[in-house]
Amino acid sequence: MKSKNLFFSRRNFLKSTFKTSFLLYLLSNFPFTSNLLFRKKLHAKTKVPEFIDNKHIFVLKEAKYYKKLDMKKIECELCPHRCRIGDVERGMCGVRENRDGVYYTLVYANPCAVHVDPIEKKPLFHFLPATLSFSIATAGCNMACKFCQNWDISQSRPEQTQNAFLPPEKVVEFAKRNNCHSIAYTYSEPTVFTEYVLDCGIEGRKQGVKSVTISNGYINEKPLRDLCKYALDAVKIDFKAYTEKFYKDICLAKLKPVIKTLEVLKDIGIWFELVYLIIPTLNDKLKDIQKMSKWISSQLSSDIPLHFTRFHPTYILKNLPPTPISTIEKARSVALNEGMKYVYVGNVPGHEGENTYCHSCKKTLIRRFGFSVLENNISKGKCKFCGSKIPGVWV
Ligand code: SF4
Repeated sequence: MKSKNLFFSRRNFLKSTFKTSFLLYLLSNFPFTSNLLFRKKLHAKTKVPEFIDNKHIFVLKEAKYYKKLDMKKIECELCPHRCRIGDVERGMCGVRENRDGVYYTLVYANPCAVHVDPIEKKPLFHFLPATLSFSIATAGCNMACKFCQNWDISQSRPEQTQNAFLPPEKVVEFAKRNNCHSIAYTYSEPTVFTEYVLDCGIEGRKQGVKSVTISNGYINEKPLRDLCKYALDAVKIDFKAYTEKFYKDICLAKLKPVIKTLEVLKDIGIWFELVYLIIPTLNDKLKDIQKMSKWISSQLSSDIPLHFTRFHPTYILKNLPPTPISTIEKARSVALNEGMKYVYVGNVPGHEGENTYCHSCKKTLIRRFGFSVLENNISKGKCKFCGSKIPGVWV
């Protein structure tokens, strides 16, 4: 694998876009669910047990992290919802099903989105900058955010999406073929396809391809620790707000378990970054942003990159305006004043807050435009100007 790709130039972007299109063309022309006959043959070769209804075919893989109850009921222990599920029913995420007292995931090796993205798009700014990430998602999510940009897949069941059959070995093979340094589990919620993430990550580690997850952080401690131990190299958490009310009213979830996830990530020591999407009138109070920044800085680490991103009206929240850029700038100042060293502005291409500045000498380390890296002054993890160590995972 090439590692000298320091700058993500326009040429590289065009090259990767072409590769993505080609890859999608390939995928769309062979293993989608509609082509049942072909898929049956493919499954027969791979000897993976499967579940077929009249229209769809899923790899039938027993889920991890659940316990059996009486009367063929089960309790899912993957995320804090802890759904209790009767026979032939599914949990809230809609992608895990109880069949005769055994719990199955229906999205194993069945991604509905496959792309090659710059790692900056996740966004991960302190993790192998200017490299590509092979990005996959399946249907399903364990939250129901009213502002979800990918609601068409996150709020769907696997029967409602067009899925490719892509076993972990193929994911790693495609990642390498496309010169990707990492695989990203993204777009919907990777927690609900944990078994697939685990196997892709394990296979990736064998072949020198890293794994990153882009998650809402709504996961129980045991699966989180397992994922970090066996599969993941970096994590990005969407920190939706710093109030229980927001999580309850807007996401159908709770804040406390997300806080717990961040504490566990710190304890594990894996590299992670945080994104806070500022939505006008809902989570834009500077007092809350200040409290959150103070908590991150004092209880986690001031080294953690914090991205404040701009909201655009979508899905159920089409009635709200885009976030004023001045609000994002104020939030950034508040976080910097609370001691956070790396605070970014997101979804505002060309803003100076997209750049990385050395926390010590304040010189520009990485100059960006959108997802492109224009200049990189970090060498062997240190500032080229003053020699300070810059937190992150560098090429
Ligand atoms: S992963 Fe899905 S089924 Fe399991 S507890 Fe969470 S929402 Fe429920």
